Amino acid sequence: MIKTGIILKGVGGFYTVLSEEREYVCKARGRFRKDGVKPLPGDIADFEDGYLLELHARRNALTRPAVANIDQLVVTAAFSRPAPDFLLVDRLLLQAAGHAIDAILAFNKSDRKDDKTLLAAEGYRAAGYSVVICSAKSGEGLDELTPLLANKTSAFAGQSAVGKSSLLNALLPALSLKTGDLSAKTERGKHTTRHAELIPLPSGGLVVDTPGFSLLETETIEPWDLAALYPEFKEYIGQCRFSECLHHTEPDCAVKAHMKPESSARYERYLIILEELTEKRRHRFD
Ligand code: GDP
Ligand code: ZN
Repeated sequence: MIKTGIILKGVGGFYTVLSEEREYVCKARGRFRKDGVKPLPGDIADFEDGYLLELHARRNALTRPAVANIDQLVVTAAFSRPAPDFLLVDRLLLQAAGHAIDAILAFNKSDRKDDKTLLAAEGYRAAGYSVVICSAKSGEGLDELTPLLANKTSAFAGQSAVGKSSLLNALLPALSLKTGDLSAKTERGKHTTRHAELIPLPSGGLVVDTPGFSLLETETIEPWDLAALYPEFKEYIGQCRFSECLHHTEPDCAVKAHMKPESSARYERYLIILEELTEKRRHRFD
């Protein structure tokens, strides 16, 4: 009987497929190689008698880590060490939005909370994002993060050393057990630098075990499409005097007229990204 499941990992030509809470190990038929399609973790596959038969169309695919069909990006920043890079945070949120991937924010290292970063976190909350203040070290906020990961496939992304791996380990006690007393991160790194893996969470969700985020499709957001990717600006677009308003220097701009004080920092960074996209576009047609 043909079954359908989600590929959790592929190692040495063997694919582990999760279907109705059971795991099956399958090989790919030669056809996949012929078609130049490499099954990825996250792919929905039909399989039978130990063979993958068919992959369902992908909603999205990342290259680093190589996974398909991500539902949600957990954009992770730290309160300090490293100091939060909000421009990177915004870029990751935009990348996700541009590919119709949901995004939530995790501000980690809450054992080093400061008012300035808390205010920035509030800004993202005001923009409409789910924001979790958490610490992989103290465990604060993990009970808030857990339900946000339920019944979805999530990937962590963010600056190096913000604590993505630590959060994964804190959320996945089973994984830490698997890697024993040795540094769980180093161990996992060894096994998965080449092969990302989806790990089932107790809540029913799946999480990519390798942090990172880069999309296969070379994305080009047009300058005039940028503002629509900001949840806090979206509702006013279309109310500006000019239909092609970039919400910058144009008169009678509804986005600027409705700007809340807590949006101003995001807006300043919007202008930086807008300038970059405009510049890129200029070069594309040189
Ligand atoms: P990654 O590069 O984003 O995966 O970051 P890691 O998980 O490797 O963490 C980087 C460093 O931050 C490590 O030394 C962790 O022990 C530390 N770290 C992680 N979470 C916390 C936290 O909540 N509080 C503090 N103070 N340190 C943390
Ligand atoms: Zn406008």
